[in-house]
Amino acid sequence: MGLQAVLHVLYPPQCISCGEPVTSDFGLCADCWLETPFIAGLVCDRCGTPLPGTDPGELAVCDDCMTIARPWGQGRAALMYRDNARSLILAFKHGDRMDLARPAAVWLKKSAQPMLRPGLLAVPVPLHWLRLVKRRYNQAALLSKALAGLAGLDHCPDALIRCRTTGTQEGRTRDDRFRNLADAFRVPKPREAVVRGRDVLLIDDVMTSGATFAAATEALFQAGARSVDVLCLARVAKDG
Ligand SMILES: [Zn+2]
Ligand SMILES: [Zn+2]
Repeated sequence: MGLQAVLHVLYPPQCISCGEPVTSDFGLCADCWLETPFIAGLVCDRCGTPLPGTDPGELAVCDDCMTIARPWGQGRAALMYRDNARSLILAFKHGDRMDLARPAAVWLKKSAQPMLRPGLLAVPVPLHWLRLVKRRYNQAALLSKALAGLAGLDHCPDALIRCRTTGTQEGRTRDDRFRNLADAFRVPKPREAVVRGRDVLLIDDVMTSGATFAAATEALFQAGARSVDVLCLARVAKDG
């Protein structure tokens, strides 16, 4: 019996959401899978929001992305931010469920497929250091690290820093969110050489208005990045 098999006898794999026994590690049971809103089919090429239509190969852009500043190239999301996806992400963010980074990376890799190419540099959206001290880990950096490992990407967890506290984005209008985040990020001098001329995949846990991605993208371009694509674990629906 191999080590993996021994471990399975001692610790049978459990559903990452409800704890029921499952057949493989780091998965969801059938019931939780159905309750988890994975994004599939036709999506907006800029933000990953699902769109009506059947051909996933079609190039489509949602109404929001036609009117809001999207300085990046392509964007994708693995989940809609509701139901079981919302509970999993809240547990990941605030409940010390760091183990969720590994299954999340599998889902991220699947959604990122159209953007994955050789030479891509994975960069997480950073927390301000004050918040990092409070929360002890940056959930976006756990995601980018796990994805980079799985997809064989270069990873630079500190390519960006958040140079000022921006408070909460909750309760702000969209314009307010963009104003609040403007110039909030920069590439620190010692990391400019890492970013210059690179194709960057910027990673965050949740995308709402896109203001965070937009501000972080601008900072990467200012440091000489060649292209920036964005990837989030969950996309908040426009009306949610
Ligand atoms: Zn379950
Ligand atoms: Zn869109």
